[in-house]
Amino acid sequence: MGILDGKAVLITGAASGIGRATALEAHREGARLLLSDVSVDDGEALRHEIVADGGEAFFSTCDVTSEEAVEALVAQTVRKLGALDGAFNCAGILGTVALTTETDYDAWRRILEVDLNGVFLCTKHELRVMVDRGSGSILNMASAAGLIGWPGASGYVAAKHGVVGLTRAAALEFAAQGVRVNAICPSYTKTPMVDDLFENLLGGDSAHVEAALAKHPIGRFADADEIAAACVWLLSDKSSFVTGTAMSVDGGYTTP
Ligand code: NAD
Repeated sequence: MGILDGKAVLITGAASGIGRATALEAHREGARLLLSDVSVDDGEALRHEIVADGGEAFFSTCDVTSEEAVEALVAQTVRKLGALDGAFNCAGILGTVALTTETDYDAWRRILEVDLNGVFLCTKHELRVMVDRGSGSILNMASAAGLIGWPGASGYVAAKHGVVGLTRAAALEFAAQGVRVNAICPSYTKTPMVDDLFENLLGGDSAHVEAALAKHPIGRFADADEIAAACVWLLSDKSSFVTGTAMSVDGGYTTP
């Protein structure tokens, strides 16, 4: 028996990085999955991989910044899987790297739109289904940048702090109705997003990698699987007394 045996789980941002690793781990733990992303080819490839391994998985494309699309995605999950037991709102972008004084307003709006508003829209529509049923676990993707400042990324930091705030408010609203809402706060995790940060946004200078590594007492960056393990636990009934938390999985990065 896996810790998500038979559970119906929706994952956004499932086509890559942490979302993908969590989908695979959820499958290994017995979940039935609705995978979603704007990246259709990679999302479909993941669905094939899971189905070929004997799992149950569907893929549906959805841009989390559209309320209409998100509402339809949640409805589709219930239609295809017959329930919505867990939801991981993982879709996100890093946006630009620039000082606040140099941050373009459109770039600021875009990062808030995807990383905060997208998580809000998913949470809103998932809650409606779960509160009606009187059970469910929602997991929102925040970041270590949702707990501390990070110079050069004020939009990202603001969005991730916002996710933590949204999570706390929603958790308190619906704790008594059997629905849990948590956030996860990873530090640097080896995914295409972090590759893009070091190689493109920061110009491939190894000093940036060394500086980021130095902030991790554990001495390395995370593998996506290490974040996925915590995500699957938070989605499962194993974490039944955990709600409203912003759980750090960061090798000591934010330890005071
Ligand atoms: P990634 O780029 O590998 O994956 C992100 C996925 O989100 C992609 O598949 C992308 O297509 C999808 N996506 C982007 N915009 C979307 C939209 N509007 N609608 C639907 N899907 C969309 O990145 P990752 O590192 O796995 O990051 C996933 C989440 O984890 C992000 O929210 C990120 O901020 C957060 N996070 C990452 C790290 C890290 O170090 N990698 C650390 C902390 C938090």
